[in-house]
Amino acid sequence: MRKRLFGTNGIRGVTNVDLTADFAVKIGMAIGTFFNGGKIAIGNDARISGPMLKMAVASGLCATGCHVLDVGLAPTPAVEFLVRYYNCDGGVIITASHNPPEFNGIKVNDEKGVELQREKEIEIEEIFFSEKYKLPKWENVGKLVERKDWIDSYVKGMKELVDVELISKHHYRVVVDAANSVGVLVTPRLLKELGCKVYTVNSHIDGSFPGRLPEPTTKNLMELSKVVKAIGADLGVGHDGDADRSIFVDEKGDVILGDKSFALIAKNYLKKNPNETVTTPISSSTIIEDVVKAEGGKLIWTKVGSINISRMMVEKKLKLGGEENGGVFYGPHQPVRDGAMSTALILQTMAEEAKPISELIAELPEYYNFKDKIHCPEAQKEEVLKRLLEECQTPDLQVDTRDGLKIWFPDRSWILIRPSGTEPIYRLFAESREKGKPEKIVAEYRKIVEKILA
Ligand code: MG
Repeated sequence: MRKRLFGTNGIRGVTNVDLTADFAVKIGMAIGTFFNGGKIAIGNDARISGPMLKMAVASGLCATGCHVLDVGLAPTPAVEFLVRYYNCDGGVIITASHNPPEFNGIKVNDEKGVELQREKEIEIEEIFFSEKYKLPKWENVGKLVERKDWIDSYVKGMKELVDVELISKHHYRVVVDAANSVGVLVTPRLLKELGCKVYTVNSHIDGSFPGRLPEPTTKNLMELSKVVKAIGADLGVGHDGDADRSIFVDEKGDVILGDKSFALIAKNYLKKNPNETVTTPISSSTIIEDVVKAEGGKLIWTKVGSINISRMMVEKKLKLGGEENGGVFYGPHQPVRDGAMSTALILQTMAEEAKPISELIAELPEYYNFKDKIHCPEAQKEEVLKRLLEECQTPDLQVDTRDGLKIWFPDRSWILIRPSGTEPIYRLFAESREKGKPEKIVAEYRKIVEKILA
């Protein structure tokens, strides 16, 4: 099998090891050949290697006759928005999202600003490996134009989708931690226009991520928690490196899991739009299902990965999707994750319910979960899945095989056993309403997998 370049979220690698200028020019030519000389928006997050890689990709795009619109430093969702706003044929984002600073990445979007389908990524890889670049004559090489005046339009687009007057009445005090990356360009500005008093931490742009690592984990958001508590703010917002995700901190300084914040948004949305369908990956908490059912909505499970949510939303014309990592997809804005938009939606929920966020979270059902992993050689991954499935053929178990194997037990506890796409491991993830039970379920299935491997 030929080496794949695109992973779950674009091409990722370490700068000047996997992602060299030479590679970036060639992948730019492959992307440009794929788009056949269209208009392409390009932007980058705050990483040190951003300009180097962006210019190299842009050069490759221009070589194949594409006209390139450089939107500069921008959150991923801003570039996605601008693809449509500027009527482009596609977009390229130079970002490694939540990965450490030595990494970078190249993400390709279609004309709707949505990540390309897997088959289309493979087409680009085929052009790259065969080096069948379409290079026009000298007079038809593409132009590069800078467009850095987009922030008003982007912020306006989000403001129009929430009740600015209602949110403003509450004079919320919000602390934003954008990990020294591009989220600082948008979220504080949007919040100010929503009548909030905005405080920031890690708010100067610095691609070495001096304040914290760009993944918004509970550990990495400790400083944000402390500041929220110290100044008595109503909410804290922690973005990842490209600000397509938001993890929130309540007024007590407690970090809210992404499943729970999405459940709040879904609950609020379905109250106003009953009968709508919401989508979430198979790895999400049952909280989502409980909330959706209670409000009379429908739920569609998908495979894990943001592209699967986006594509499901486009295909079924859905308005809302979300992931446990803090990614919220709001269709009326765009069917992709947007950390600023999800912050506006949380504020909208708080304002409509007129309760502190910790109280809203406490109203959600409580679940316990446990994660573990087990080493599994690549060659045995398929066999493990097949044998596990055979083991589950009993009438009391309900199974879902859309991504790995999810087993539902009679009390609605569940375990998801999924092979990693990038490492020789199986991930085991269990959830239950009973404290201590997820650990027991994981231990039981760990034994079964080990037996199969032996
Ligand atoms: Mg991201």
